[in-house]
Amino acid sequence: MIGAIEVDLGAIRRNVARLRALVAPARLAIVVKADAYGHGLVRIARAAAPLVDALCVYRASEALALRAGGVSAPILILGPVEPVELPQALAAHAAVPVWSSGAYVRDLERAARAAGSPFTVHVKIETGLNRLGVSVDAAAAAILALRERPELRVGGAYTHLAAAEELESAYTHEQLRQFETALAPLASTRLPPKLTRHAAASAAAILYPNLRLDLVRAGIASYGLWPSAATRAAARGAIELEPALSYRSQLVAVRDVPAGSAVGYGCSFITERISRIGVLPLGYAEGIPRALSNRGAVAIDGRPAPIVGRVCMNMSFIDVTEIPTARPGSRVTLIGADGETRVAADDWANWAQTINYEIVARLPSAIPRVYVESPRPRSNDSPVSAIASSSAIVPS
Ligand SMILES: *Cc1c(COP(=O)(O)O)cnc(C)c1O
Repeated sequence: MIGAIEVDLGAIRRNVARLRALVAPARLAIVVKADAYGHGLVRIARAAAPLVDALCVYRASEALALRAGGVSAPILILGPVEPVELPQALAAHAAVPVWSSGAYVRDLERAARAAGSPFTVHVKIETGLNRLGVSVDAAAAAILALRERPELRVGGAYTHLAAAEELESAYTHEQLRQFETALAPLASTRLPPKLTRHAAASAAAILYPNLRLDLVRAGIASYGLWPSAATRAAARGAIELEPALSYRSQLVAVRDVPAGSAVGYGCSFITERISRIGVLPLGYAEGIPRALSNRGAVAIDGRPAPIVGRVCMNMSFIDVTEIPTARPGSRVTLIGADGETRVAADDWANWAQTINYEIVARLPSAIPRVYVESPRPRSNDSPVSAIASSSAIVPS
């Protein structure tokens, strides 16, 4: 085995069920973009679909993959759908976002007429991220105009928050105020305002009850990861999340080297003592950030072992001097628990100075995913392991 990613569908189901209970009576959509944050699109969607009101993806191709995989839950596409993809999106009964008028609306109408069935759209409103959306001033008129078109159904109106996970609550609440301002003119029209309004991703859904509106779109929390350490602290135990993903491999060689030996490209690590260096058959092409060179750690035989030298494209080096049992074939836990030692995606993120989202989203789909179903919560879900705080292992 070069490497395998184990995904615990039991943990996914429990996370989703907890989110559902937390946000009720708001409905729950879970976000399965980027191959379900590296966990595997179709398997995650199948496991979660019975517990959720909708699934969110970014691309039309993801909606098609879900339907091909037998998933029948409502799908909302959040990213741009090319006009040529519209017939497929409609055939997959996926709702698409609209943030422009004119030609694109005519493309939607054309696709709906050709298929003989109406297209459901969600109107995206720009309230402060400055990424995509119709402006606050134009939103109500755009929604009313779309409602006049017999080929289109306006299923929802939504926005996306810029800084909920950074606990910028003043900015976040101002975005909510902008969103409400945008929709306010609809209240005085005679059309029944049956729009599904949604704004919150994981952080806002957990922290701000007034942002849950009619529906929340939870991504990272479904996978048992926190949107940020600050979100976790501010949540004060409001919800328990279980990381669902483990990444394992095994040593392919263990080498005895004298003190003063250089290890790896650039001779960036020089042994200070007689050492045993384990070779891991995974590198940055397999999702280990090169920033973990001389910085990260793995678990072997229940104990932490530091990554030394530079992470190569398909190989890495582990100092196993302190682990006399380590030998070729020893199991290596890159992410996950091994006895008392746990390495979290958050540890990788801290070492690489990025966020856990990037760590899991970049785990290559070529690494085999193995699905298991643990019956009950794992006790040790602390994301910052003993390894992260050990100065012996994490050089400053
Ligand atoms: C990715 C994404 C989400 C989910 O965000 P999390 O922080 O992972 O919960 C929700 N909405 C939109 C528009 C997104 O792009």
